[in-house]
Amino acid sequence: QGPGRAREIPFARKDSLTRAYAVASGKGGVGKSTVTANLAAAFARRGLRVGVVDADIYGFSIPGMMGLAGQPTKVDEMILPQVGHGVKVMSIGMFVEPGQAIVWRGPMLHRALQQFLTDVFWGDLDILLLDLPPGTGDIAISVSQLLPGSELLVVTTPQQAAAAVAERAGAISKQTEQRVAGVIENMSWLELPDGTTMDVFGSGGGDRVAANLSEILEAPIDVLGRIPLDPPVREGSDAGVPAVLASPEAPAARALDAIAGRL
Ligand code: ADP
Repeated sequence: QGPGRAREIPFARKDSLTRAYAVASGKGGVGKSTVTANLAAAFARRGLRVGVVDADIYGFSIPGMMGLAGQPTKVDEMILPQVGHGVKVMSIGMFVEPGQAIVWRGPMLHRALQQFLTDVFWGDLDILLLDLPPGTGDIAISVSQLLPGSELLVVTTPQQAAAAVAERAGAISKQTEQRVAGVIENMSWLELPDGTTMDVFGSGGGDRVAANLSEILEAPIDVLGRIPLDPPVREGSDAGVPAVLASPEAPAARALDAIAGRL
């Protein structure tokens, strides 16, 4: 294959056995990347072969969450992904100098994502997770074009305003004809020292997104799980060891692991 010739995307082949999930959210800060990193680690711990494409070009955070720094190596014309906690990771952040801002235009984004899927030596994967940028941007459309069989996971908080934008992110699958694998509600409650719980971000967001997407897409869509606000989750992300590995007994880690089990 000469340069400039588009390589085939192995995961887009009809006989591909890799399950691809695009993790989407309406807005930033709801924990989409945290969920992606923890699900990836949970799958790997179950012995599955897992890859993560960090397609959140503007807010790439997966390498840090997986304890990865530095750049991927190149062998012949292929890029070798970095491996953190048994998960193969490719991120645009690996090609950007620290502190450097990047301006990406739609076609460049599409091309970068395509390269991540064609020019990276992933080997055989059971699961491929794609961390999408928040919102209903170009990348979501690109993913559906490059990986037509991929399914959407919609992350929201319980907050009604967050749910409304998450719905829009999920509804895009009506146009792209992607299946929505389910809704994940994050930051659902906080357990206080006296054992009571507090609904910091209100309640009902996950149910609302699932119900409305079921109606829009005319297919039953479930809430796959609810994840509490839990300090070990933030600590794990900051330390580069996802909570499902670093603090598997933490309530949020158990919730995340259970969601992996449902997929
Ligand atoms: P997004 O990808 O949606 O922008 P992040 O995954 O970067 O959001 O999460 C935003 C911040 O919230 C991060 O600092 C992360 O560690 C923290 N966080 C996410 N989910 C939880 C949780 N369940 N408990 C505690 N902190 C969380």
